[in-house]
This record gives sequence, structure tokens and C-alpha cells, in this order.
Amino acid sequence: MLRAFLLYLSHAGWARSIALHWRLARAVALRFVAGETQEQALDAVRQLNARGMQATLDVLGESITDAAQATAMKDAYLGLLGAICAADLQAWVSLKLTALGLDIDAALCHENMRQILTKARECGLSVTIDMEDHPYTQRTLDLFHALRNGDGFDNVRTVIQAYLYRSDDDIESMAREGAGIRLCKGAYKEPAAVAHPKKADVDAAYVRQMKALLDAAHAGRGYPGIATHDEAIIDEAKRYAAEQGIATEAYEFQMLYGVRIALQDQLAAAGYGMRVYVPFGTQWYPYFVRRLAERPANVWFFVSNLFKR
Ligand SMILES: Cc1cc2nc3c(=O)[nH]c(=O)nc-3n(C[C@H](O)[C@H](O)[C@H](O)COP(=O)(O)OP(=O)(O)OC[C@H]3O[C@@H](n4cnc5c(N)ncnc54)[C@H](O)[C@@H]3O)c2cc1C
Repeated sequence: MLRAFLLYLSHAGWARSIALHWRLARAVALRFVAGETQEQALDAVRQLNARGMQATLDVLGESITDAAQATAMKDAYLGLLGAICAADLQAWVSLKLTALGLDIDAALCHENMRQILTKARECGLSVTIDMEDHPYTQRTLDLFHALRNGDGFDNVRTVIQAYLYRSDDDIESMAREGAGIRLCKGAYKEPAAVAHPKKADVDAAYVRQMKALLDAAHAGRGYPGIATHDEAIIDEAKRYAAEQGIATEAYEFQMLYGVRIALQDQLAAAGYGMRVYVPFGTQWYPYFVRRLAERPANVWFFVSNLFKR
């Protein structure tokens, strides 16, 4: 109930405008967001690299409906890639297609992606296309394949959400072709017609799909990102990989900035690849509310901090 309400708030314009003008809300959101500027985000990456972790940087913004904003977002990514390169940081980038014009004009979005991937390739960096809610799943995978197989970009990766019924099939074909995949449970409110409503079914699907990706990586096809904070699943990944003789270099764990920090450190110290998703920018509202929805305790953290201040 609380999760559903928060996920409704994450795209409610009125709630977004209250939060963005509320200094205290911004201060608390900074637990999950590395700052509003690129320099703050690059500082966060420097600290992660010093702790033995990689990063993936995300310029916050989604559901853009104006071509000029999509072009500005593309330019922000080009500048970010140049800055990562110049500072010699260990970071990829992640982005959302609706921030690059998918809702306005698919051709504009495709062209923006080509420019971003070309710049990233010059620096030897990968770009992950985040996965949004289910009306975008097929369009995201179509553009991913057009970029990878049509345009020949081998530095593009994307995301599969274990909660969708279709994901077992998507994982099978992605694993067969060796595509670079981040596997996550899924963060949006989806109808039971398209996604498992029960957490136990989502977790079981995640483990199935994770093993398929690990098997493919073992056979030299793809480099999966196991994106979860679920300790039982992380333990199962470690156990399965060790049992099958899959090298730790064949895959990596991924977590969100500000979430399960001690576990991030533990995995990095134990020699596992650990990449942290570092979002930044002024458009932090929907991202922040989705993080609140994932864990009721975060809502109490938010409320109690408002009162402490
Ligand atoms: C690197 C990365 C990239 C992602 N990219 C996408 C994407 O492109 N599309 C998409 O739909 N989703 C994405 N997600 C979000 C994902 O789908 C889940 O909503 C989120 O990761 C919570 O699921 P979980 O696997 O951690 O498991 P859960 O079962 O939700 O959580 C397991 C445990 O982790 C801890 N935890 C989880 N979330 C939080 C939190 N917000 N704050 C504090 N503790 C928490 C809690 O202890 C919880 O009990 C991404 C997640 C990660 C880690």
C-alpha cells in the first residue's frame, strides 16, 4: 500500500514540485544522490575508486518531452564522458532513453545514443541503458539491438528486470548472443498482467536468470552485472560461481549509491568486482521516491531526519 502510494508520488507533478523547492527534502535525498553537480559526482567516484570499487554515473532526468531538453541531456553525457576520461576515473555511464528523446522522436533518441556511444568508445567506456517501466521494455530492447547489432557498438549494455514474465525468454536470448546485461529485480509499479506480484516469485526468477547469465559468462559470452542488495541472492551468486568454477573476473556485483555500504566494502575487499550506481543532478525527485518505495525503513529515515533538522 505504502509502496504503491510512493510509486504514484514518484511521477506526480505536484509532489515533484513541492519536493524540489523544499531544502530539507533535498538534503535528505542526498543520501541516495551524489550531489546536484558533475563535480560532486566525480568526487564521489574518486572516493569509490579509492575504496576499490568502480562506478556507473547517471545524470538524473527522465520522461523528457521537449527536443531541446533531450539534446541538452545528450550534451551533458558527452561532457561527463570527457570528464571521466580526462580524470582517468574507473566509471561507466548509465542513462534512460526517455531522457534522450524516446517519447518525442525515436530517430532523435537513436542519434543521441550514437553520439554518446561514439564518445564513450573513444575513451574505452561502456554505456548502460537503464530499463524503465513496461511500456518501454520492447522499445528499449529494440534500440539496444539496433545500436549493438545494426550500428556495431560493442560498448552498449542494457538491463533486464527479473519481475517481468517475459524476462526468462529475454535473458535466454541475451545470454545466447553474449549481450552485456545488468540484472535487477525491477523498481516500478507494474500490473500483475506483466510482472510477478509476489516477492518470492521475483526472487526465484532473479536467481534463475542470474544463473543463466553466469553460465553464459563462463562460456565467454557477456559480462553480467548482478545488481541487487539482497544478501541471500549475493551469497547464492558467490556459491554458484564457485561451484561451477566461474572466475570472479567474469561478472560483477552492482549496488546503488548510499545503499548497503558495508556490504559493498566487504565484497570489494573479498576481491569481487563491485560497481556502484552514482546518480547526480537537479532532477533527483522520481529516483529518490523510488528508493523510498523499495524499503519502508527509508521513509522513516526521511521523516526522522526532517524532524531532527
Ligand atoms: C546498480 C543498480 C541499477 C539498477 N537499475 C535499475 C533499472 O535500470 N531499472 C529498474 O527498474 N530498476 C533498477 N534498479 C533497482 C532494482 O530494480 C530494485 O528496485 C532495487 O535494487 C531493490 O531490489 P533488491 O534487488 O536490492 O532487493 P530487495 O528485495 O528489494 O532488497 C533486499 C534488501 O536490500 C536492502 N535494500 C534494497 N533497496 C534498498 C534501498 N532503496 N534502501 C536501503 N536498503 C535497500 C534492504 O536491506 C532489503 O531488505 C537498479 C538497482 C541497482 C542496484
